[in-house]
Amino acid sequence: MTDCIFCKIAGGEFNTPFIVETEDYVAFRDINPKADTHVLVVPKKHYDSLNELDDEIILGKLLGGVKRVAAELGLKSYKTVINTGKDAGQEVFHLHIHVLSGNIKGV
Ligand code: AMP
Ligand code: ZN
Repeated sequence: MTDCIFCKIAGGEFNTPFIVETEDYVAFRDINPKADTHVLVVPKKHYDSLNELDDEIILGKLLGGVKRVAAELGLKSYKTVINTGKDAGQEVFHLHIHVLSGNIKGV
């Protein structure tokens, strides 16, 4: 998707620092953090949301990415969130998992 901001970030277009990168996903800090630490784990392949995901293997990999972010940043306690659909608060229509830790304000 050429006009998708997360496709661009995941493709390295903005030289965003990645906390973790594999061939399948990247993890980077949320631009508008809702906790002391707020990271997004984002597949490199575009899916509008969890509803469009047709590859369950990638789900396991993304959760593995959450664990890797936690290990990398030394997070012992954290919350993971996936917003699916506008009414649930999804704003960016490229599947992503929020990782939140410390003074969580909610997403
Ligand atoms: P959601 O509401 O679940 O779709 O979450 C989208 C998240 O993406 C929000 O927390 C935004 O702050 C974050 N976001 C939007 N644009 C960017 C960006 N360019 N870089 C990093 N995070 C972003
Ligand atoms: Zn995308």
